[in-house]
Amino acid sequence: MSHRSGRHFLQIPGPSPVPDRVLRAISAQTIDHRGPDFAEVGKKALQGMKSIFKTSQNVVIYPASGTGAWEAALVNVLSEGDHVLMYETGHFATLWKKMAAKLGLKAEFIEGDWRGGADPDAIETRLRADKAHEIKAVCVVHNETSTGSVSPIAEMRRALDAAGHPALLMVDSISGLGSIDFRFDEWGVDVCVSGSQKGLMLPPGLSFNAVSERAYDYSKTAGSRRSYWDWQEMVEINRGGYFPYTPATNLLFGLNEAIGLLHAEGLDNVFARHQRHAAATRAAVQQWGLENLCTRQGQESGVLTAVLMPEGHSADAFRAVALQHYDISLGSGLSKVADKVFRIGHLGDFNDLALAATLSGVELALRKAKVPHQPGGVEAALAMLENTQFGQTAAA
Ligand SMILES: *Cc1c(COP(=O)(O)O)cnc(C)c1O
Repeated sequence: MSHRSGRHFLQIPGPSPVPDRVLRAISAQTIDHRGPDFAEVGKKALQGMKSIFKTSQNVVIYPASGTGAWEAALVNVLSEGDHVLMYETGHFATLWKKMAAKLGLKAEFIEGDWRGGADPDAIETRLRADKAHEIKAVCVVHNETSTGSVSPIAEMRRALDAAGHPALLMVDSISGLGSIDFRFDEWGVDVCVSGSQKGLMLPPGLSFNAVSERAYDYSKTAGSRRSYWDWQEMVEINRGGYFPYTPATNLLFGLNEAIGLLHAEGLDNVFARHQRHAAATRAAVQQWGLENLCTRQGQESGVLTAVLMPEGHSADAFRAVALQHYDISLGSGLSKVADKVFRIGHLGDFNDLALAATLSGVELALRKAKVPHQPGGVEAALAMLENTQFGQTAAA
């Protein structure tokens, strides 16, 4: 067995490091998921997730990765042959579209350049042209983890309403929830998909659907054949705090602890912290003379920053140097941007010194790997941190 002293820096945009208190909660002895003690655990988790989604409507919890909850969202309300409109924000939007096609849906893409969020005007224009209302759902990724861009979800609702279109609004906030502002009820979202291992600071293994009354009503009569993912039976049994099949008991212990931590810090403070660390990271990237993949001002992610490598330099070779010499894991470029970008995760259980260490690791690795750059990125980030207070959003 080999051992490296000190903490490994897991700075990929999910899974994110798990706080010690959450790890301890998970390590409790497993209990009977049909016994009397479990109901409180289940009820607390379901109620707690409503407070995170900011909804008074139903939340469903699956023992599955985010991909499972993606499938659940589609099969509960959409039937084979249904037309869905999706927006190409990046790799994850592309995977969700591929899944929709595999499930027999007619998935249409509005093409994007992977350098910003979804464009509400393009969605509105497309919906206006759909006079027969054949499009049953609009699917948008909130925080596109492959590019570090955020789609304005409230604007998506406005686009649907402006077009007078009845399609459901379905959102993937797998990596946004718990890190950047999200308001299920206020923004008129019909289904939101999320997962445990990003902003919620848990290990992988839980995923979620928040479900509007309207989407839930649809699911009573519509949707594809389904069993494991079916909302109806789940919601019925959840009323008592129980689940139709064995839930991930220990992850629910951890979830309740993590929700407690988010509220103890205050969700608005959590969101401001992410914006501030993202702004400091961008200051470092700019000083290095490197390019942020996201070019749309105001749409840069608080969760991660994707950095373009200079022409002729391999992002994966650079990441390997960072891991070997400084014990830091950085996110890889996915599909279209494979080997062209590396991603710095600044989400979850994170603070100023963790950011300083992360950016120092990146800068040291840039030197070690002989990637052309200007020095002083860490100093630029520290100056940004010094000039902005806790709980205060830094100017971009
Ligand atoms: C991580 C992620 C997924 C996939 O979730 P898994 O838990 O890996 O199945 C989907 N969409 C987005 C935006 C993600 O960040």
